[in-house]
Amino acid sequence: MQVKWASHHRQGTGELTFLAMRGLLLWCASNPWLATHVPTWGFVRRAVRRFMPGEDVDTALEAAVEFKPKGIGAVFTRLGENIIDLGEAASVVEHYESVLDAARAAGVNPEISVKPTQLGLDIDAAAALANLNRLADAAAKAKGFMWIDMEGSAYTDATLDLYSKVRWKHSEVGVCLQAYLHRTAKDVGRLTQTSAAIRLVKGAYAEPADRAFTAKRDVDANYLALAVVMLTEVKRGKLRLVLGTHDVKLVRWIAQFGLALGIEREQIEVAMLYGIRTDELARLAAEGHRVVDLIAYGSAWYPWYVRRLAERPANVLFVARQMLG
Ligand code: FAD
Repeated sequence: MQVKWASHHRQGTGELTFLAMRGLLLWCASNPWLATHVPTWGFVRRAVRRFMPGEDVDTALEAAVEFKPKGIGAVFTRLGENIIDLGEAASVVEHYESVLDAARAAGVNPEISVKPTQLGLDIDAAAALANLNRLADAAAKAKGFMWIDMEGSAYTDATLDLYSKVRWKHSEVGVCLQAYLHRTAKDVGRLTQTSAAIRLVKGAYAEPADRAFTAKRDVDANYLALAVVMLTEVKRGKLRLVLGTHDVKLVRWIAQFGLALGIEREQIEVAMLYGIRTDELARLAAEGHRVVDLIAYGSAWYPWYVRRLAERPANVLFVARQMLG
């Protein structure tokens, strides 16, 4: 009995340490001083390479072409968020239009993933909507797809509103939902009243306990429950569901449930981030799942990269090793 108590106690301490490290790293992700200085440090720039093939789009395209023989597709995302000038948003739109064409020319299925605050949401929601509509048109023309990322919970309502408006005219558009938010079950119910495309992730931002589950096991349980509910909509042909996670055990449970419902394996789609568990992604592709690797690039990598560290604080050791040489 005592041994059992001790092991539970250790597990609790481990989770607390994880949560403390995660909180600290997410604070670093939004700290303006660190955001200006850290990207100039050589050892951090070297460490970032683990999660992105390079800063320019050509290296991202090359990585996507290399994935093709493994049956892994690609989604392109140019890093950047919370822009403060609509001119910048316009150049982001032009950039993505050229990426959709370039991906098609390279023989890669043209899929992009965009952040509303990179398209002007902080400045003018109508301008962000116009930018998203323009990109959705370009994705449709390229026979591709556009995903709308989900940012911190201050943006959830506005992002879902943008998604609904863009999706109304374009079927090649999907949105990301976060399993750590208490509200997500309701959002799934609302979004699946009409045909939808949803990428389900656990959630990457610092959120207060009144809005989000904080314990990992609760987030995982909610992810499983939401996916199971959504599979019934996939079965009815009303939903494109992508599991955006590296949690392969969870993917396998969800797949088992989906197969039991009579859903084809390729309809249980999986997306992972570049540099994380690519071998598992290739294995899932070989088994018949449609899989993609989300390839990030660009110079504005600081907040995005620190969120990757927060997901697995042990990654900080990798950064430290780069510092030591
Ligand atoms: P976890 O339980 O955190 O991880 C499972 C296992 O995967 C870990 O044990 C570890 O082995 C491995 N792993 C996970 N993360 C890392 C890492 N950083 N480094 C090394 N190994 C790791 N979040 C949003 O809030 N909004 C979005 O729009 C969004 N889009 C995403 C799109 C895709 C395709 C993916 C894969 C994730 C996205 N995320 C997004 C991030 C997501 O919310 C999680 O923070 C992230 O995926 C880590 O959770 P996990 O599901 O992989 O599960």
